[in-house]
Amino acid sequence: MPELPEVETVRRGLAPVMEGDVIARARVNRPDLRWPFPADMAARLTGQRVERLRRRSKYILVDLSGGETLLIHLGMSGRMLVSGDALGRFVHDHPAPEKHDHVVLDMEGGARITFNDPRRFGAMDLMPTGSEETHKLIAPLGPEPLGNLFSESYLIAALKGRNTPVKAALLDQRIVAGLGNIYVCEALYRARISPARRCRHIAAARIGGLVPVIRDVLTDAIAAGGSSLRDYRQADGELGYFQHSFDVYGREGAPCRTPDCGAPIRRIVQSGRSSFYCSQCQR
Ligand SMILES: [Zn+2]
Repeated sequence: MPELPEVETVRRGLAPVMEGDVIARARVNRPDLRWPFPADMAARLTGQRVERLRRRSKYILVDLSGGETLLIHLGMSGRMLVSGDALGRFVHDHPAPEKHDHVVLDMEGGARITFNDPRRFGAMDLMPTGSEETHKLIAPLGPEPLGNLFSESYLIAALKGRNTPVKAALLDQRIVAGLGNIYVCEALYRARISPARRCRHIAAARIGGLVPVIRDVLTDAIAAGGSSLRDYRQADGELGYFQHSFDVYGREGAPCRTPDCGAPIRRIVQSGRSSFYCSQCQR
């Protein structure tokens, strides 16, 4: 499932192809994904100039010249493919249509953006530009982990007195938006906090220390995604999934990378999801 860095990588990949160009033709090949598409979506997209691509949590927001914003959510398996970019940033010819190509946008400049989603947990919606914070998917969300509102004092106050494991608190999208299983595991490792430790048993200074660590983990992953974008001329034009090495995620049994530790990384299941951590380094 794409997490925030993957979504940001998709945004950065789409921006140079879409921003400033006009959607010459929009094709919508089915009535819904996770939810029904908005009424007349193809007609409302056709002829619109793309002003700007933004991101809020794991949602890409495409501001259109007519005053609407297109929300895109990749869901579990959604992929964005770019082909036929006349400016040569993507050299791929248009591929043969595939079964799960649900939405296809042909830009005036020649690029084609295809949204493919076999499992159909993705979503698209249209709303008036500027109203996104009241959209049903965005209104419940806490602050952006890379934004100014996500401060040490904010996180200390948000977790104060909670009896939940710190991992569950960091996955709670109302506390901080866009963090998923992988990057929470990585952040807790760097902060040397056990994923099972309950919030109220963690000193405020250690909670506060999570904020710069979370920012670093996400920034490193976004940088890795950026390097992957530069390889797309050779790749298949698909945005957003990139090779990235993790310190603990997916490394059960492998030695901890902390110097002088080397203990095997452990996996426990919390709320049905795997947590990877070092029981020596993380307390
Ligand atoms: Zn260790």
